[in-house]
Amino acid sequence: MLSNLKPQAPDKILMLIEEFKADTRQGKIDLGVGVYKDPNGVTPVMRAVKEAEKRIWETQTTKAYTGLAGEADYRNALAAMVLKDVPADRLASVASVGGTGAIRQALELARLANPDVTVHVSDPTWPNHLSIMKFMGLPYVEYRYFDNETRGVDFEGMKADIAKAGKGDIVLLHGCCHNPTGANLTLDQWLEIVAILEKSGAVPLIDLAYQGFGDGLDADAEATRLVAKSLPEVLIAASCSKNFGIYRERTGILIALAENPAARDLAQGSMAYLNRQSFSFPPDHGARIVSTILGDDALRADWAAELEDVRNTMLGLRAQLASELRNLTGSDRFDFINRHRGMFSRLGATPAQVQKLKDDSAIYMVGDSRLNIAGLNADTVPVLARAIIDAGI
Ligand code: PMP
Repeated sequence: MLSNLKPQAPDKILMLIEEFKADTRQGKIDLGVGVYKDPNGVTPVMRAVKEAEKRIWETQTTKAYTGLAGEADYRNALAAMVLKDVPADRLASVASVGGTGAIRQALELARLANPDVTVHVSDPTWPNHLSIMKFMGLPYVEYRYFDNETRGVDFEGMKADIAKAGKGDIVLLHGCCHNPTGANLTLDQWLEIVAILEKSGAVPLIDLAYQGFGDGLDADAEATRLVAKSLPEVLIAASCSKNFGIYRERTGILIALAENPAARDLAQGSMAYLNRQSFSFPPDHGARIVSTILGDDALRADWAAELEDVRNTMLGLRAQLASELRNLTGSDRFDFINRHRGMFSRLGATPAQVQKLKDDSAIYMVGDSRLNIAGLNADTVPVLARAIIDAGI
C-alpha cells in the first residue's frame, strides 16, 4: 500500500532552511523562515511564558481531557484580546492546533455550511492557504492585491475582484501584517471592503497571525474589530505562535460570529464536531500559557512590554534598511520598507535577483523576494542594503 504513495513536493521555505544550514560561507544571512529572531539570532521564550509555565507546573493537578472546544477561560480571554467588545450572543469559538488548524477548520466549516463555496484569496498569499485548499479540493480564485510598482496594495484591483465573490463564498483576508508582502490596507480601505461584502453576502475569513507585530496589539486588531461589528457573519482564525512566541505549542483559535444565537449554537456544535473528527481535543498547554498570562495583570503587562520590544526592534530595522538604501540610491524608491508592517516585506525582485543575493552574498530569502526583517540586525542591515544594489534590484 505505502509504495503506491507519490512523492510530495517539499515545502519551499523548509527547503531553504536546509540549504542555509548546508552553506559553509562566513557571514551568511537567513531572511527566509517566518520566526522572530532577536538581534543575536535567537527565537526566545518570552519572560511571561516562562513564568506562566512555572505556575502551571506548580498548580496543575490533572491532565485529563479538556472539552472538544478547549477551555472556556482561554477562548474568552483570546476572543477579548482580538475583539475587545465580545458579542457573546453571536460568538462561537474553539481552540485550534495553531493558526493553521484554525484556518483548516474554518474552511471545513464553510464547506459544511455551503458545499458550493468558493474561496477568494489575495495574490499573493501565505502559500499554505493555497496548499490546504488544493488538498481539500476546495475551489478558490485569487484577487489582485500587491502592486509590484508601488510595493503597496493594488486597492482598485482588489475591490473589483472581491466584488465578484458571491453570497456564501469566503473572502480570506489578512487581518494585519500581510504575509508575504508586508503591504496592508488602511482602515478607510477596510471600510470599503466591508461595504462590498455587505452588499454581496460573501463571508470574510480573517487570518490574524501577527497581532502585535505591526502597529500594536490594539491597532493590529482594529480592522478585525471593524469587520466583526459591521457584518452579520465573520470567521476569524487567530494564532498565538508569533505574539506569544509559542510556535511549537500549536495554539490558536477559530472564532465564528453568527447572525443570531440560534446560528451561533449551530456553529459551535459543528466546530466541536470538526475537532472531534480531526483530533478530538485541541492541545491545551499553549492555551493554558496564554490564559494564565492574559488573566494576570502583572504577567500580561510584562508580556505586552516584551512584545512591544519585539515590534519596535523590527520597526527600527525597517527604518535603518530604508535609510541605508536611500543613501546608496539617492532616491526614496525603497521607502516602502518603512511603510510595510509585520515580519515580512516583499522586495519586488525577480527570481534571478533573489538567486544572485544567495550566490554572491549568501543572503537567503524566499524566491518571491519575501524577506524576514527579524532575520536582520544592526550589523547585517548595511550588508543587505549593499547586496540589494549589487544584485540590481
Ligand atoms: N497565517 C499566516 C499568514 C501565517 O504566516 C502563519 C504562520 N506562518 C499562520 C497563519 C499559521 O501559524 P501557526 O499555525 O504556526 O500558528
